[in-house]
Amino acid sequence: MPIGVCVFGAPDFDGHEQVVFAADRQTGLKAIIAIHDTSRGPALGGCRLWPYVSEDEAVRDVLRLSRAMTYKAALAGLSLGGGKSVILADPDIPREAFKTPDLMRAMGRAVERLHGRYIVAEDVGTSVEDMGWVRRETAWVAGLPVAVGGSGDPSPATAYGVFRGIVAAVHHRLRRNTLEGLTVAVQGLGHVGWDLCRRLVAAGASLFVSDIRPEVVARAVGEFHATPVAADAIVDAPAEVFAPCALGAVINDHTIGRLKAVIVAGSANNQLAEPRHGQTLAERGILYVPDYAINVGGLINVAAERDPAGYDRDRTFAAIERIPDTLAAIFQEAEHAGIPTSVAADRLAEARLRPAV
Ligand code: NAD
Repeated sequence: MPIGVCVFGAPDFDGHEQVVFAADRQTGLKAIIAIHDTSRGPALGGCRLWPYVSEDEAVRDVLRLSRAMTYKAALAGLSLGGGKSVILADPDIPREAFKTPDLMRAMGRAVERLHGRYIVAEDVGTSVEDMGWVRRETAWVAGLPVAVGGSGDPSPATAYGVFRGIVAAVHHRLRRNTLEGLTVAVQGLGHVGWDLCRRLVAAGASLFVSDIRPEVVARAVGEFHATPVAADAIVDAPAEVFAPCALGAVINDHTIGRLKAVIVAGSANNQLAEPRHGQTLAERGILYVPDYAINVGGLINVAAERDPAGYDRDRTFAAIERIPDTLAAIFQEAEHAGIPTSVAADRLAEARLRPAV
């Protein structure tokens, strides 16, 4: 392992309240829990399990993700702070052999030692079922299986928020009150992308779709009458909306000039390769719906489990229907201040972090 893991000097350290390194000899757990800001409430964020090439990479990732959770929760008006955790997977052991129930329980004990300052949930590399094991050791866990009273897979909630966000963006940018006759290019037909397609088609939109898994593309052609597009050509599709639901950094120097869409709105995290790409989109007249504003449905869903009255799907989906209000505030701030929507979203989130005077 390299010497000189950098925490305080890392790009996204940004005054993190607490960064905890946790280990467990018996299970081989090596984890980092980052708590960025708890001014709005306990820090809720997923636990990512990943074979990082170095500890430095893991530190950078957890700090970046944790800080982003602060912004996401604040912008959505949730009484939650921002945090995240990462488990450093052993690259020499297959994931399912490494990620044992005992490992997840050891992670639960690490979370428990923070006495509720951090609430863990699923993320890339961990599952709703894994959170069931974590729960054996701590109550500070969310995103639990439905069988134990949890909210289960957050993807349908995320997809619903993205759908409502697209409706709002279409109204704002195209002055259209319906998706009837609209064309959307959806990149990624996974948990969120598939459910989004279902909703879009039901609302009268037609689709271009891409995925690196040919079998799901074929299924989308059959089920949604979608037009299939090669994975590297989806940004070229002649659609009014581009919905990235697969990867980060899809808006970059290589893709931005090829976009035909006038709206970018999807679930993927970190869609802009660099902050300056938000400015470029604005200059080209493309309405960018900031990723962390539109994909917050899953977080709202997970957070609803903490409701003292218990998780209620109808109440949660009603809360998700307020995402367009946040988007309207972002669009208005961007127009008023002459700034990209990505910057407007950050400004609004930061304003919600500052204590009222
Ligand atoms: P997923 O893993 O279920 O689906 C991702 C899909 O993208 C897969 O079908 C995969 O084959 C496909 N894909 C991968 N590379 C691709 C490429 N180059 N071109 C086209 N398709 C490609 O993930 P998900 O849960 O549906 O999440 C999708 C995105 O939304 C991710 O970026 C995730 O971080 C983000 N997100 C998800 C949620 C949620 O509730 N699941 C919440 C917030 C953000």
